[in-house]
Amino acid sequence: MARLFLEAPTAPSLFQDCLVEPEEARSILRPQRDERLGFGFTLSPYRGCAHACQYCYVREYPNALHGPEAWGKWIAPKLNAPELLWSQRHKVHNATVFLATATDPYQPIEREYRLTRACLRILLELGTPRVVLHTRSALVLQDLDLLRDFGNRLSVGFSIPTDDDTVRQVVEPKAPPIPTRWATIERLARSGIEVGLSVTPLMPVDNPQAFARRAASSGVSSAWVGRLRLLDRDPFLSLLQAKGWERILETEYVEEVRQAIQREIPRGLHTARRPTQQRCRAFPRKESHQPGLF
Ligand code: SF4
Repeated sequence: MARLFLEAPTAPSLFQDCLVEPEEARSILRPQRDERLGFGFTLSPYRGCAHACQYCYVREYPNALHGPEAWGKWIAPKLNAPELLWSQRHKVHNATVFLATATDPYQPIEREYRLTRACLRILLELGTPRVVLHTRSALVLQDLDLLRDFGNRLSVGFSIPTDDDTVRQVVEPKAPPIPTRWATIERLARSGIEVGLSVTPLMPVDNPQAFARRAASSGVSSAWVGRLRLLDRDPFLSLLQAKGWERILETEYVEEVRQAIQREIPRGLHTARRPTQQRCRAFPRKESHQPGLF
């Protein structure tokens, strides 16, 4: 199979302030059970994530290339992701495929590497019955043609965890601004792509009613409110305290936002009911997949 990233470096390089460390992966499909969508496989064309979300527990995963303090500063494109997927194609004829866990499939370097696009083309060709993309990035629009070709076999979960871009600048410093995300959702929805709003992990929302109205008017067909999960001794807790944002850990606050969204999107709301504190630092609960996060 011809590789599609001939323009992109295959040796370590720097992209903006991010170290790009291309690798050959050993596997590409991981069995997964999503609490809403059932059994399937996750497919991550990248390891690491340039979005650098401060609450991201993936920084603690043992297979990270660098320590937690370097999270957001490195990214490893899996150069052989399409070939691996093709070699394991028998698995996905009848399965839901989620892109991605532990990364965003639309990393800034996807502009050059096009690994997500190559994997999507294979899934399209195979007739995979259900594909769920999850992203925070407007880069998803570069694949609009492909997404359309899937018809109702594909949906996009788009993450907007706050209505305040100054909050976003603190908690997701290298991810796209909130207005750009709303505009991306609108473009996807207008193009006939099924889009779900993922309010995960829920961050401070200034005006839940206005936020919910914005969501309803954007064209999303569903919404998902997911609570923050904190690891033991999670430094993000100190950030919340320093900013006076501890209310996001309170059930009443989560309910307030959830109810506001439910009033505006009555048939499309899902809520993750999970504890806000994790016990194990290195391994978040296996069954507690956070579909809204990735
Ligand atoms: S939460 Fe998702 S988008 Fe943010 S850094 Fe972690 S993997 Fe990347």
